[in-house]
Amino acid sequence: MSSILFLGTGGARFVVARQIRASGGMWMRYGETQLHVDPGPGALVRALAHVPPCVPGKLDAILLSHKHLDHSNDVNIMIEAMTHGGFHHRGALFAPRDALEGEGVVFPYAQRFPERVEALEPKAGPYRINDVEVYTSLAHVHACQTYGLHFKYAGHTVSYLPCGRYFDGLIEDYGAHRPDVLILNVLRFRDALDVDHLTLDDAKALIEGIHPKVAVLSHFGTKMLEQSPARLAREIEDAYGIRTIAAYDYYRLEVENEAAAVGA
Ligand SMILES: [Zn+2]
Ligand SMILES: [Zn+2]
Repeated sequence: MSSILFLGTGGARFVVARQIRASGGMWMRYGETQLHVDPGPGALVRALAHVPPCVPGKLDAILLSHKHLDHSNDVNIMIEAMTHGGFHHRGALFAPRDALEGEGVVFPYAQRFPERVEALEPKAGPYRINDVEVYTSLAHVHACQTYGLHFKYAGHTVSYLPCGRYFDGLIEDYGAHRPDVLILNVLRFRDALDVDHLTLDDAKALIEGIHPKVAVLSHFGTKMLEQSPARLAREIEDAYGIRTIAAYDYYRLEVENEAAAVGA
């Protein structure tokens, strides 16, 4: 069985700085394999505070979609926790190259702790973690190297579409993986500022075009929260006939159950 636990659903600087929503990323389980994706500020605390706790010492891998702080702030402490303070050479780290080198966010000393460190390349994979296969998307249009992640396990695909500007190529690239579950970072309600983030209308176009069985909205900015993500999700579901969920902190999605509820 597979599940995705949201340790945070906030995005954008104000929401994260004020912790209006938490920013701990996602804790994924595929059978016995445990992955932590985008450990933003508070990830370690949110993981341990959950009941039952998510135990970093049992993680098989940590993955970063990109190096921005709301996705990576806790990566060093999570690596320490995964490797039992660096004493046990175990687990894996996957991140875009610019998160690892130059002005990267993963300290060089911490990069020596995992058993395996791999720089993600666009449209690459499979990166294998036990019996989970991970593929990257094409490069997103964002201020740093940013890749979506497709997780394939036991006949199901979970796709994570992180931050970035909308362009038509996203639909073809993500659609080719035929995701059962598509998680989208929908930071902005409308495009008041011209920034490299999805707006709600962008998310609608992506959900309609990629056509997953289940769409999950997350990583909300202030305006999205003001509009009630749950209400917006219902509107999308009604408009396109695709099950759409607005994630909230500690929301847990059971992949097989959700996919089965929608049907083939
Ligand atoms: Zn972000
Ligand atoms: Zn970003």
